[in-house]
Amino acid sequence: MHHQNHYDITIVGAGVSSVFLAYTLLKEHAALRIHVIDIGKELHQRTCGLDQGSTCTCKEQCNKYIGFGGLGKSEGKFNYTNDFGGELGRKIGNEKVLELMEEVDSILCHYGGGIVEKYSTKNEELAAKAAHHHLKVLSTEVRHLGTKLSQDILQKMYDVMKESISFSFETKVTSIKREEPGYLLETSNGHYTSERLVIGTGMSGSQWFKEQALSLGLVTGETRLDMGIRVEMKGNQLQSLLEETFETKLRYQDDELSATTYCMNPMGRIIRKHQHGLVMPDGQNVREKDTPSANLNFSLFVPQYFSSYEKAMDNARSVIGGINQGHDRIVVQRLEDFYLEKSTNSLNSNSIGPSLEASCGNLVEEIPELYRLALKRFLVCLEGLLGEAIDGDTLLYGLDAKFYEPKLVTNEYFETPVPHLYLVGDCSGETHSLSQAAASGVYLGRYLSKKN
Ligand SMILES: Cc1cc2nc3c(=O)[nH]c(=O)nc-3n(C[C@H](O)[C@H](O)[C@H](O)COP(=O)(O)OP(=O)(O)OC[C@H]3O[C@@H](n4cnc5c(N)ncnc54)[C@H](O)[C@@H]3O)c2cc1C
Repeated sequence: MHHQNHYDITIVGAGVSSVFLAYTLLKEHAALRIHVIDIGKELHQRTCGLDQGSTCTCKEQCNKYIGFGGLGKSEGKFNYTNDFGGELGRKIGNEKVLELMEEVDSILCHYGGGIVEKYSTKNEELAAKAAHHHLKVLSTEVRHLGTKLSQDILQKMYDVMKESISFSFETKVTSIKREEPGYLLETSNGHYTSERLVIGTGMSGSQWFKEQALSLGLVTGETRLDMGIRVEMKGNQLQSLLEETFETKLRYQDDELSATTYCMNPMGRIIRKHQHGLVMPDGQNVREKDTPSANLNFSLFVPQYFSSYEKAMDNARSVIGGINQGHDRIVVQRLEDFYLEKSTNSLNSNSIGPSLEASCGNLVEEIPELYRLALKRFLVCLEGLLGEAIDGDTLLYGLDAKFYEPKLVTNEYFETPVPHLYLVGDCSGETHSLSQAAASGVYLGRYLSKKN
């Protein structure tokens, strides 16, 4: 009954996650019949005028982004951490992710990645001091391959895989139909059937994937929303932390909440950001302006998870929309007034000059307690770390937000509610980086190879 166009596992997309998935499947279970379909080209054919500093010469989607290796054909900076680059750790556990990243790194090194040293962004002394005050300095182990080495490694992995795995490049999947017990795929290069199907089409495939998800009946679920107060302080207030780096990322966490500094702008300004019909205080990097400001700003984001995208947006609209009052109103309050829960009336004699024109007010009346609580707890720790009080003239702006796409519903093995249909890498909504995308590939590869 098995014919030439039938496979055990078909992977749509040949990006970073899919490469590590296919490679793991091959290593763990060489007898599996695996098919990888990509809309782009083989790696050595992925050329574009942009490579020579000219303009893009690609017909449809740019070769820089699509084809074997996906966005792995880039700078190749593998950040081995759970602290940013996705939420894989939240789904499968931080320990597990670190172990998977070790495997990813050992594969990279097996194909030559070891010629660049792995380094850490961690400042041990600062990290220890911060930990003493219940703050974590976010840092990561990095293997920064660079464009040339990234491509060499991907090419070597391809050379190993192409002996046993079928690859179809420049192939469009036009429809996916369920055909018990598996799937029928119609493509620009003919029909294929597969027992199991994995989709790993990343960011470049998001439009295509949206359409497929709709026709397959996939549903969106959990949606993250980060909101928080943007803080504008005296430029030198964080000097002792920023001696060796331009910016730093600090996290406060307890049983109730987690709060992380985001988009820190030493000498920068605050500007209005318009998104989803809402207006928020955003940081503008000093490089964007000729004259540096005397202040430093950052947002203190508290992530929250909602059961649907609509619920997340409703929440943002009710809080930020409430502040905006139908136009572009942003509220500002002095730190001292914030602690006293009294309204700021004027900033005329404030020693820290606001870089954004905003309406003086009282955050107690305008933003939920969660974000105020987060700021208070964070600032107590920060004062401990700095060994000095934060200036009472520090300005607090309400309210900044970062929006996320909703995730599609998958179980802990990335299987969708539609049987035998899996997601991997960025299209799962769980990863946003090379290392996490690759780790998700190794993870799913191990699982699917055992499931036969
Ligand atoms: C410019 C840029 C630079 C980046 N640099 C870094 C970095 O240095 N470090 C870091 O950690 N992260 C970086 N990222 C993020 C990182 O590249 C991605 O998180 C990661 O590549 C995701 O892997 P993936 O397998 O999910 O998707 P991708 O690597 O994007 O692969 C998706 C694959 O699907 C294919 N595809 C798309 N649509 C279809 C379709 N309809 N049919 C068939 N195939 C399809 C594409 O050809 C591609 O091969 C960068 C992102 C960008 C945009």
